[in-house]
Amino acid sequence: MRFKLIYPKWAKLNRQTEFHLPPHGPVVFAATLPAYVELDFVDENLDEIDFEEPVDVVGISMMLTVQVKRGWQIADRYRRQGVKVIFGGIATMLHAEETMAHADAVFLGEAEGRMEGLLEDLRLGRLKPCYDYLDRRPDIGLVGPARRDILKRELYNHKGVQMVDLVHASRGCRFNCYPCAVSYLGGREFRPRPIDQAVAEMAGIDNNRLFIVDNSLAQNTQWELDLFREMIPLKKNWCSHPIEDKPQVLDLAAQAGAWYVYQAVFDTSDYIKERIKRYHDHGIGVEGTILLGLESHDEEFIKRLIDFLLEIELDLAEFTVLTPFPHTRAYEELSRQGRILSTDWDDYSADRVVYQPKQMSPERLGELLDYAWNTFYQDEPQHIKMARLFKQVVQREMAADTFRPRERRLRQRSFGRVAE
Ligand code: SF4
Repeated sequence: MRFKLIYPKWAKLNRQTEFHLPPHGPVVFAATLPAYVELDFVDENLDEIDFEEPVDVVGISMMLTVQVKRGWQIADRYRRQGVKVIFGGIATMLHAEETMAHADAVFLGEAEGRMEGLLEDLRLGRLKPCYDYLDRRPDIGLVGPARRDILKRELYNHKGVQMVDLVHASRGCRFNCYPCAVSYLGGREFRPRPIDQAVAEMAGIDNNRLFIVDNSLAQNTQWELDLFREMIPLKKNWCSHPIEDKPQVLDLAAQAGAWYVYQAVFDTSDYIKERIKRYHDHGIGVEGTILLGLESHDEEFIKRLIDFLLEIELDLAEFTVLTPFPHTRAYEELSRQGRILSTDWDDYSADRVVYQPKQMSPERLGELLDYAWNTFYQDEPQHIKMARLFKQVVQREMAADTFRPRERRLRQRSFGRVAE
C-alpha cells in the first residue's frame, strides 16, 4: 500500500528567526503503521507535493491550527482525483468537525495499536468518517521508537548548523493552564514512557542535540531523577519544556546534558527571578515563552515585564499574544463572552490579535507585541543571542569529544533557503 503522509506548510511567526525542526507527529505516527505500508513523507515547509504521483491513500498530519486550511486544500485536491484522505494529529483533534468535511476519515487520539484496523477498513471500502480514540489512550509502553528514517534529514539544518531531533519521554499533563489544549488532547494524567525505552530511543538517534518535547518534565520528581540519571551516559545535549528547579533535579539534569529550557514567564515575581537564576547557576540556558494579553495585563504591566526579562538575563525570549485555540479554557471563556473577533484559522499564528483583550484595544496589544520584540532584542539581536546558545553547545560537544566536524563543512557549503 502506497501511503503518502503530508505535513502542510504554514507561515512562520513574523519576528522569529526562521528554521525548520524535523516534525515529531509524523515520525511517531509512522512507527504505528504495519510493515506492508510503503510510506512517503513530504514536509511541505521544505519540499513540494507531487500531486501526480500515484498513491493509494493520503494521510495529512496537522500539528498547528495555522496548518488546517492548507491541509483542507491539499485534501480537497486529492479527493477530486479520487484518492482517499485520512487526517490525524493535534490540530485535527482541535478542528475535528470542520476537518471531516474535507476527509474520508479523521483519526482522533493516539495511533499506537489502532492503524491495522483503520487500514483494514480502508482496504475493504468501509472507512468510517471518524475514529475517535480520544478517551481510550493506548498503553504508553506501545510508543515508539519514532521512524526518523522517513525524513529527508539534510533539509533540517540552519545555515549548515545541525538542528535538534525531537523525542518524547512522556505524554499527558496534570496541569490545565488557561491557554492550553493539552488536557483535552493528552489527558490530565501524566503518562511516562518506560524509561529504558525512552532512553534507548534517544541513544539510537544519530544526533547529539535533542529537543525533549514532553509537555512538561516538571511533573514527577522521582521520574525526572531516574530519567536524567539514565541519560547521563548518552552524552547528548538537549532542550526541553520546564524541568523542576529543585537542586537535586537541576544537578542531574545538567549532568545529563540539559542545554536550555523553555520557561513561561508570566509575572515579575521573585519566584520567577530565582527560578531563572537556579537554571543559570547549573549552566542551563532559558528561553522565555512570553504570552501577552492575559486578562490581568495592562500596558504598564507589559512594559514592566519586558524590563524584568532583561533584568533576569533570559538567554532568548519568544513573544506571542494570547490565542484562543479551540478546546482551551481561553476559547470557552472568550467565546461565551462574545470576545472572539476572528475564526479564520490562518490568523491563529499567535502573533495576531484575534480576540478583544480586557485592558486595551486589539490594535494596542499588537503594538505592544512589537514593542516587546524590539525592546528585548534592542541591544543584542536575536540571531546573536541564538548563536551564543549554539556556541555553548559546540563547546560542550568539543569537551565531550562528540562534536562532528562534518557540521563545519556543511556550514561552508550551505547557501540560502534550506532553512532560511
Ligand atoms: S501549558 Fe504546559 S503545564 Fe500548562 S497544561 Fe499546557 S502543557 Fe501542561
